[in-house]
This record gives sequence, C-alpha cells and structure tokens, in this order.
Amino acid sequence: MLNAEVRVQFRPYFSIQHPALPYLPTIGLEVHAQLLTSSKIFCGCSTSYGAAPNTQVCPVCLGFPGTLPVLNRRAVEHAIRAALALECTVHPVSVFARKHYFYPDLPKGYQISQHAQPLASGGHVTVDGPDGQRRIRLARLHMEEDAGKSLHGESAEKAATTAIDFNRSGVPLIEIVTEPDIDSAALAAACFSRIREVLVALGVNDGNMEQGSLRCDANVSVRPLPGAPLGVKTETKNINSFRYVQRAIQFEIERQIDLLTTGGLVEAETRLWDSSSGRTVSMRGKEEAHDYRYLPEPDLAPVQVTEAFVDELRKTKTALPERTRERLVEQYGLPAYDAGVLTQSSALTAYFEQTVAASGSPKPTSNWIMVEVLGRLNAEGLEIGDLRITPDALAGLIRLVESGRITGPTAKLVFERMFVEGGSAEAIVEAGGLARVDDEGAIEVMVRATLAANPTPVAQYRAGKKQTFGFLVGQVMKASGGKADPEKVATIVRRLIEP
Ligand code: ADP
Ligand code: MG
Ligand code: ZN
Repeated sequence: MLNAEVRVQFRPYFSIQHPALPYLPTIGLEVHAQLLTSSKIFCGCSTSYGAAPNTQVCPVCLGFPGTLPVLNRRAVEHAIRAALALECTVHPVSVFARKHYFYPDLPKGYQISQHAQPLASGGHVTVDGPDGQRRIRLARLHMEEDAGKSLHGESAEKAATTAIDFNRSGVPLIEIVTEPDIDSAALAAACFSRIREVLVALGVNDGNMEQGSLRCDANVSVRPLPGAPLGVKTETKNINSFRYVQRAIQFEIERQIDLLTTGGLVEAETRLWDSSSGRTVSMRGKEEAHDYRYLPEPDLAPVQVTEAFVDELRKTKTALPERTRERLVEQYGLPAYDAGVLTQSSALTAYFEQTVAASGSPKPTSNWIMVEVLGRLNAEGLEIGDLRITPDALAGLIRLVESGRITGPTAKLVFERMFVEGGSAEAIVEAGGLARVDDEGAIEVMVRATLAANPTPVAQYRAGKKQTFGFLVGQVMKASGGKADPEKVATIVRRLIEP
C-alpha cells in the first residue's frame, strides 16, 4: 500500500479544443476543512501547525488499545456553525462510525467519521460562476478526524523510507459533500472558493490550503447528452489550491472525452493531481476499492444536538462576507470595492473596524489599509495577524495626517517605521522632529536656497518652460525632509520665481 504503484497513463495528451463539445461534464466536490480548535477532536493534544513531528500526540490519537475518545465540544459547535451558514439541516442525532482501512498513517486501523447518520445534510452554496449565479446543492456535512501525515523519502539517504508524523492525527475536520450540480472546472473552483470564504468568515477554518487546512477531492464524469445518465466518474484526491482544482478538473474532463471519442472507456478510479506535470494520474482502480466495513463507534455516544443549542449558535453566527460587505458600505459610506477588499478575512474586517473606531475617518482608514498595510504585508508574505501596527497606532497616524500635523511623505516614513518596529505614530513624530513645517518664514528660507542652487530650471521656468515648477517644488520638499507644507511651498515658489 505504502508505495502504491502509480500507473501513469501514457496516452499522449493534447489540449484538444472541443468546439461543439459533444460531452457534458459533471462534477461533485468533497471538501475537507480543519476546524479551528486548539485541541484535537477526541483528545487534548494541540492542533497548532508546524511543531516537530510526533510532539503533539498521546495514546488516544496514536490509537493505543484501551484508550477512550472524548468528543471536543468546540469542534461540534464549529461544525454546526458551518452547517447553519451553508443552510444545511442539522440533525438532532448523529452517529460516529469507524471507517476501516489500512494505511500506516492511520494507527487505529480505522478513522472515526460519520457515515449513515451525519451531523447535517441538505443545504447549498450560491456561487458567482463564469456564466452568472448558480446554486449548488450540498449532500451532507459530517465531522471526522484527520489521519497522520506520511513523509515519503524526505531526504536523499531516506529516499526509500517513509516517516510518519502523527501530529495531524485526530485533528478535527468537517467534510462537505456537494451534489453533482457543477458543470465546469471554473464553476467547481468558484464553488470551492465560496465554501472557503464562508468557513473563514465564520472563523471555523483558517483557509490555509498550503498547510492542508482546506483540501478538496474532485469527482468528475462526462456524458453525451443533457438527459443521459451520469457517466462513470473518477475521483481526484487532495487538491490544495483553487487553480489546481480548476486545472485538475479540466484535465480530467478532456482526458475522459478524449478516451470516449477514441473508443476507450473511463475507469472508475481514484486519481492524484500531479502539479509538476499538470496531469492527473491513476492511484487505484475500482478493483482495489475499499470496503470500509463501517460500524457505529462503540466508544462514543450518538451526538445529540438540542434545538436550543443550535439556536444559541445561530445567534453567535458571524455574518457572511456579503452581509459584512453591505454593512461596511452602509455604515461607513465606503465604495463597494473597498468593502470587498476589507472583507477578505474576518481578521482584516475587524482590524479595519477597530482602526475606524479610533480614527473617525472611514475612507482614509480604508485607503491606508488597502494600499499601505496590505501592500507591505503582501510584499513580506505576511498576514494581518502578523502586523505590528495596532489599530490604535494606525488610527493615531491617520489622525496626524488628517489634522495636517504631518505631511503625506512624512506619514509614509512614519508608517514604515511602525511597520518594522511597532510603536505609536505620535512618539515617532515627536522623537524625530517630523511635524509638518508650516512656518512661512522657515519655508521661504528653504525655497530661496533651493532656487539659488538650481539656476537652470529657474531660468527655464522664466523663459516659459513651466514644467520645471514641479521639479523645484519637489526639491524644496526634499530639502525639508518631506516635512514642509506642500501647498505653502508651492505658493512661495510661485511668488519668488515669477519675474
Ligand atoms: P461514492 O460512493 O463513490 O463516494 P458518492 O455518491 O458518495 O460517491 O458521491 C461522492 C461525490 O461524487 C459527491 O460529491 C457527488 O456529487 C459526486 N458524484 C456522484 N456521482 C457522480 C458522477 N457520475 N459524476 C460526477 N460526480 C459524481
Ligand atoms: Mg463518498
Ligand atoms: Zn492526542
């Protein structure tokens, strides 16, 4: 099993255009999302990412015999919140089951999941697809534990070795299964993205696909006519980016059409996306399909969810991104574009709202966050949570600019200092003597010195080449270290330069 032979299909692949597409694609997604809890689903081990291998484990999540799982209440709350946001029906009773299969990273020999009686079913996601809004129905949403992680041949001397890290074993997941309502790779990617957006906005998932907190299996089939029964499907496992979801599905659609139009048959099989070759490759066929021998988990009582409990969670349900967007537009008079950017994550929205509360200037605050804060964070590959500038400190900087105490160029310098070192704008301005220079006498001294030092542009200006004006103002600003009031500089330059 470990080194499951990968049967690459050697059929040459051409990106065939199918102008009068004779086959219709059908896609269903299975999304796995890690629930944001500090401890695992059935034990107290930490779920934090990036710890040394096998340091966040205990007898329960290592599957020792005689240990007992205890259900994490927080995980259930998150799962119910997700179910409510996706408009699923939450069932009063759901049952954990053992799903048996052998794999080295599954120490118990079974995964605790939900099967016949999932936590929730039904529901839907509304997606802005390539051709308008579409509603994709959900089949079910259930809770389960994650498996460990196999590290195949991590180094040269370990090329033939597989090491296993059990830190992820027992991390709480929800699995969200869509109905086969998706008919293009682009719509599938949009659907996955929408699910991520909802889960992240709710604060039940961190949306981090690189760390495996969110991943997607894509079931794909094609059939000749709209009314025809669904074709045989393949399932491509564990795709961890929107782009790859789209590319893997598109590859699968074209591969299947190619097979069918050249006299072949699609095999029901599990496939893997190989991002380096841009292809899906066969992992195991139907003949190797698992019989999971599900049985109700005898060590866990059925999960009973009262209506009162659900109502309680409904009340604390965080607003969905589009509602937050509308609210930002209404409450702060922001353009829709700004509201869209500021609702990329609930952390970012919170940062904006805390900053506005202290700055009192919504649009300037939005501009500072969209341009400077996000620009610098992106450049450093950081997240809003890594930012050293507190909302109060950013608000302080914005107040200094809005009140005219410092100039725009000075504000950028102060921002950079705050980005690197933290601290308050007032303190940095105070310590650096960076307050705006308003004194006309002082500015005039600087202007005279600059004009004297730049006789050529001055002569050019006087000869009618008016463009040198901007240059001269720029030179005075530079001489003042960006601190002079730019309007006064311009007025005084004009007064002294006009013949
Ligand atoms: P399986 O029993 O193979 O796990 P399920 O019925 O549980 O299949 O469905 C798994 C996923 O596959 C769901 O998202 C479902 O919408 C999707 N699916 C089912 N049949 C097809 C099909 N013929 N083509 C594409 N997707 C399908
Ligand atoms: Mg299934
Ligand atoms: Zn544990």
